Amino acid sequence: MGPKSTDDTRRFADMVAAKQDWELNPDAEFTDSLVEGLTTNWNRYGYFLCPCRDSDGSRETDADLICPCAYSKADVEEHGHCYCALYLRRGFAASGGVPGGIPDRRFS
Ligand code: SF4
Repeated sequence: MGPKSTDDTRRFADMVAAKQDWELNPDAEFTDSLVEGLTTNWNRYGYFLCPCRDSDGSRETDADLICPCAYSKADVEEHGHCYCALYLRRGFAASGGVPGGIPDRRFS
């Protein structure tokens, strides 16, 4: 698979959000930086490793960290957003929710 542009990754993130009925973080600058991180990871590893986490070394050991990660649904449900705060529960921001640091469910 060839390299991805940030536009490609943005389309991917939009698609994930639509599919899960989530929203992207409305902080455009913040979201752009995560989209950039995802793009860098794709072009480095060949998969969308979470931009807020470090690789464990292979696609197999990173499987739970490929965006949308295995922890995203539970985190969005419990905290209103995923670990990176790229994806937000629909209406979270509109109702005054502000994403904050949450524990990494991978280690809980
Ligand atoms: S925390 Fe999970 S869903 Fe959020 S950006 Fe990272 S991999 Fe994607």
